[in-house]
Amino acid sequence: MNAAFDPAALVRPDLDGLVPYQVHVHHNVIKLDANENPYDFPVSIREEIWRELGNHTFTRYPDPVAGDLVDRLSDYTGVPAGGILAGNGSDELILTLLLTFGTGGRVVITPPTFSMYEVHARIAGARPVNVPRRQNFALDVPGVIAAARHPETRVIFLCSPNNPTGNATPPEEVAEILKNSRALVVVDEAYQEFGGESCIPLLKEYSNLVVLRTFSKAFGLAGLRVGYLLADPAVVQQLLRIKQPFNLNAFSQLAARTVMARREEFNRLIKLILQDREELYRELAALPGVEVFPTAANFILFRTPLPAEQVYRELLAKGILIRNMHGPGLEQCLRVTVGKRDENRLFLEKLKTILGL
Ligand code: PMP
Repeated sequence: MNAAFDPAALVRPDLDGLVPYQVHVHHNVIKLDANENPYDFPVSIREEIWRELGNHTFTRYPDPVAGDLVDRLSDYTGVPAGGILAGNGSDELILTLLLTFGTGGRVVITPPTFSMYEVHARIAGARPVNVPRRQNFALDVPGVIAAARHPETRVIFLCSPNNPTGNATPPEEVAEILKNSRALVVVDEAYQEFGGESCIPLLKEYSNLVVLRTFSKAFGLAGLRVGYLLADPAVVQQLLRIKQPFNLNAFSQLAARTVMARREEFNRLIKLILQDREELYRELAALPGVEVFPTAANFILFRTPLPAEQVYRELLAKGILIRNMHGPGLEQCLRVTVGKRDENRLFLEKLKTILGL
């Protein structure tokens, strides 16, 4: 043992205060905290994946560019294969984007939004610059454009529908920002299958646009970590210089490829989630004193007359896990993922009890 060795002293001082991503692990609870697809993975698709796995030896490295999956994604999105990059979850792609384009510069973020943009900007050695959303969570477009004009701005992150607020940004607003920016504009469409208008059509016109997508939400593959981005092929070429060569393992490539081939079967589940979202929204909004924010995603942001922490804890004690949100603009806000119909019903029932209704 070398008593003088202090690993913390070897870490870049600008990362002081960075804490591990916190996942609240609770067993035997109804999980409405992570915006996952609540339904069991379709059995026939799972069986097809098992069958294909039977032909796999796993002795060789995976395809570094996930060519078969990218071809399927090209079919799904209409974007040519040269403009698609697959990653180990979209989280990995956020980091790869920032390591490639952000390091040493400014990265514009529009809080309240997904926390990983700021965390990965710091890890990549970029300076996060906040342009807060308006009171109704719409983007401050002139504010974003002003920040985009700073000569050190390299990357701008927009999220639509936005996590955790749920609202979508109209593509016209994104186009306005694209037009007025020499920086790369990333639109995170992790929840786009649930609503909002996609920015994919803008890719033809704007070479500084990146659209980020994931298999973790609508397509039920959160456990296998598959995301992808769509961009100008010249942008993808730059990213390929930085990404880990074998970032996406063979199993996940195969599973995602199969999901894409059978994607119509997920439409039924997506439709069910959307119907249940409307129902849950209506019921929440009807509770006296409860404020509910409009959503285009598979989750709902809301406030109750009681402190958020109290509601969160009392729900957890009753076996229901949701998210207690923190940070400017999210005071006393909670976020609930749309679950299966009976899970939503139970959540509402327990919430009513807690609120004394
Ligand atoms: N973007 C947004 C907006 C998200 O909410 C999430 C997941 N919480 C991600 C990206 C990351 O997804 P993935 O599982 O693909 O890494």
